[in-house]
Parts: sequence; structure tokens; C-alpha cells
Amino acid sequence: MKKQTDVLIAGSGCAGLYCALNLSDDTKITIITKATIEESDSFLAQGGMCMLKNDEDYDSYFEDTMRAGHYENDKTSVDIMIRSSQDVVKDLVSIGVDFEREADGSFCFTREGAHSDKRILYHKDITGKEITSKLLAQAKQKKNIEIIEHAMLLDILEKDGRCIGGVIRENGQLKVVESKVLVLATGGVGGLYRHSTNFRQLTGDALAIALKHNISTKDINYIQIHPTTLWLENDRKRSFLISESVRGEGAKLYDKNGNRFVDELLPRDLLTNEIKKQMEKDQTEFVWEDLRPIPIEELQAHFPNIVKRCMEEGYDVTKECIPVVPAQHYYMGGIRVDHESKTSMDCLYAVGETACNGVHGKNRLASNSLLESLVFAKRAAKQINELAIDNWKLQDAGEVSLEEYRDEKALELKYKQMVRDAMREADMKD
Ligand SMILES: Cc1cc2nc3c(=O)[nH]c(=O)nc-3n(C[C@H](O)[C@H](O)[C@H](O)COP(=O)(O)OP(=O)(O)OC[C@H]3O[C@@H](n4cnc5c(N)ncnc54)[C@H](O)[C@@H]3O)c2cc1C
Repeated sequence: MKKQTDVLIAGSGCAGLYCALNLSDDTKITIITKATIEESDSFLAQGGMCMLKNDEDYDSYFEDTMRAGHYENDKTSVDIMIRSSQDVVKDLVSIGVDFEREADGSFCFTREGAHSDKRILYHKDITGKEITSKLLAQAKQKKNIEIIEHAMLLDILEKDGRCIGGVIRENGQLKVVESKVLVLATGGVGGLYRHSTNFRQLTGDALAIALKHNISTKDINYIQIHPTTLWLENDRKRSFLISESVRGEGAKLYDKNGNRFVDELLPRDLLTNEIKKQMEKDQTEFVWEDLRPIPIEELQAHFPNIVKRCMEEGYDVTKECIPVVPAQHYYMGGIRVDHESKTSMDCLYAVGETACNGVHGKNRLASNSLLESLVFAKRAAKQINELAIDNWKLQDAGEVSLEEYRDEKALELKYKQMVRDAMREADMKD
């Protein structure tokens, strides 16, 4: 079965949706998404999204991002992200995204670890849901955008060094989709890990496909572990994040004896190491986090979702500490892209967490990822608008053998193994 579209986008998180919304209205766009439309990490983002507050904050924001990334960041990417942040926020506000405001109508800013100043916009502790649901509502209104749930990209089709479409599984059926441009927006790799805050279906499929086609990758083994997720006995589900901004607002970490052992606002990787060391020393599976230093009204207003979820798990954060443990959280590496989000293959772009433009270096600064996903998704769309659609025509993919995609389980295991092997190999080189 064959289908044709101008731009095929794999993934319906904030990166895929915002890319689609920035493509011109006369472009036929098909978004496919592996699970339901709400099941993306973009919906889970709690803490917020960074924005350059004013010109005076530029140097400090740049330096915080570089320091957190161990100075391995691509400086041009960092500069682009920071300088584009106000433009993206303007777009979001124009579609109804409701960031917290002060009484005078100006934005409220919060702070997270490794930020030297408050520069994070937020909506309670569900910023990602606020942003992504508004993007989704816009996408649903567009006549040129079709969204297909439970449709998974299995492979790309390649002709003369150019991507000409993809093979997908839609509600169990294999299909060939011919496209002028394909955008990979499949998110992170948390589904490869036993403990992760990510949705389980995020298994790095686009990465496996890139490896299969010798598409360039970068920092493939750069994984971020979040220092604080709720520890639950015998938990096999997605780990629940205790946002860094609770530490930004004053929450403290204690060892098994109730003593502080670390600066709670260290960058994520350093804090994770300190927590792991403490767990090892104490022979425990978790450390304690105390949210009580945050005034109750602030807790209820800013973090209602965290308060509620902890209560459901039997912890009243206004009265007691909660057990927390580090878990896989974010993927800094990915498919190598340039500053316009183009991969090493023509007509193939990658945006969001699956892409690597080097902005995060070795370790992402908190609340830079929603922003990075949006900024570089918009740049991809701009280049596709300017170059691709006018110049490129749909190519006939011919007869495509679908044999290698029939066994769903075997393909899934093969792709997971490819990604794990590539990460391990990179680890050995480092
Ligand atoms: C718990 C949590 C809290 C976070 N908090 C923050 C925060 O406060 N601030 C911040 O900046 N960032 C935060 N992040 C990170 C941020 O949410 C993500 O980096 C960002 O949303 C990634 O967006 P994305 O569009 O690239 O991927 P996602 O939103 O994950 O979307 C990926 C999409 O691709 C689909 N998909 C996967 N494989 C395929 C396939 N083969 N074919 C088709 N579709 C596929 C998935 O189903 C999904 O729809 C948080 C992440 C988590 C998990």
C-alpha cells in the first residue's frame, strides 16, 4: 500500500508539531506517531522553559549552558537558541500558552540547578502539557496537517543519497510513504533503560534507522540521568520526576540519617554522582528529599501535580520527606544535524531530542530542551519552506520489499541492540 505526502514527520512531541506548524500552509504534511498523540515526553515536562530575560542576562545564560555542558557545546547552537528564545515565546503566547505572570502582567521566572539566575518560564508544574496541548490544538485546526496515531516509522527510503520517504506500520499494516522531505522527531531513548522518566515507546528508533543508513550521529553515548525521581518499591513503570525546580525553590536532600550531604543546585550530572556515592556509602536504594522548606502555599500553587502524585503514593510532602533516586532522563546525543536541523542525508531533517546540534554539550542545562526543540524545529521548517518544497519533486520509490519489517518483535529487538551497541562502542572510545 502506498501513500504520498510533501513532508512526513515521525513523532508528535513539541518538536514535530512546531515544525509542522511552521511549514507553509500549502504543504501537505503527514505526522505519524507511535502511540497516542498525548503520549510524548513533551507532555511530561514539569519545570519549565528558559528564555533570555533581557540583554544583560545573555552572558550569564550562555555561560551557564556551557558550564553545564562541560564546554563541549556547539557555541553557535547555544547562541542561536538563546537569541531565538523570545521569538519562540512570542509564538507560544500568541497561540494561548499561559505562562505564570506577576501581578503587573510581566512573566514570573523560576530557577533550577546550575542556573545562576531565575530565567525559566513555567505553568504550574505542567509546563510541557500547557505548551504541547496548545501546539496540538493548532495542528488539529490546520487543513494541510494529517495526524496518524499508532503509526510507527520503521525505516527511511533512500535513492541516490537522498531520502524519498519511509516505511511505516500503521495499526499493524505495513505501508510505503513517498515524501519530498522526512523529518525525524522521535524523541529520546529512555525506553532502552529499566529506570527512566521517559515514555516506554521512546526507544531511539530514528537513531537505529540512521545507523542502518550510515547517517552521521554525534555524542551517541551522552545520556543525562536525572538526580531525583520518586523511588517506589518494585517499580517497573515510568519513573516519576521530582522536578529540579523544587530544589530551585528550596527543597533539600538528606542522607539516611537526615543530614544534608550535597549542594542541591549542582549541575545534574555532578549531583547524580554525589547521590549515587551517598547511596553506596549508606547502602540504601535512595536518598531523602525534603520539600518542607518550600512554603505550603508555594508548594500547592507551583507544584500541585508533584504534591498530588506523592500523596497517591502515600507521601504527604507537607509533613514528610520522600525517597528519591536517579533515573535516565534525557539524551544529549543523537543524529548529527547542522544549525538548520538537516542531517547528513539530503531531504532528511531531525529535530528535538533525537537530533544533536551540540547545543547541550555533555550535559543539558535544566529547561533548555523544550526551548532547543522548538527553536531548531522552526529553523528546519524555514529551510524546508525555502529550499525543499519548490526544488524537489516526489520520487517513485518503486517496488519496496517489506519482508524485513514483518516480524515486529524481531525488528524492535534488532533496532534496540543496534543503538545499545553503538553507545557501548562510543563509551569504550571515551
Ligand atoms: C518527566 C520529564 C520532565 C521534563 N521536564 C522538562 C522541563 O521542565 N523543561 C524542559 O525543557 N524539558 C523537560 N523535559 C525534556 C523535554 O520534555 C523533551 O526533551 C522534549 O519534550 C522532547 O521533545 P520531542 O518532540 O523531541 O520528543 P517527544 O515529546 O518525546 O516526542 C517524541 C514522539 O515521537 C514518537 N515516536 C517515537 N518513535 C517513533 C517512531 N518510530 N515512529 C513514529 N513516532 C515515534 C513518540 O511516540 C512521541 O510522540 C522533560 C522530560 C521528561 C521525561
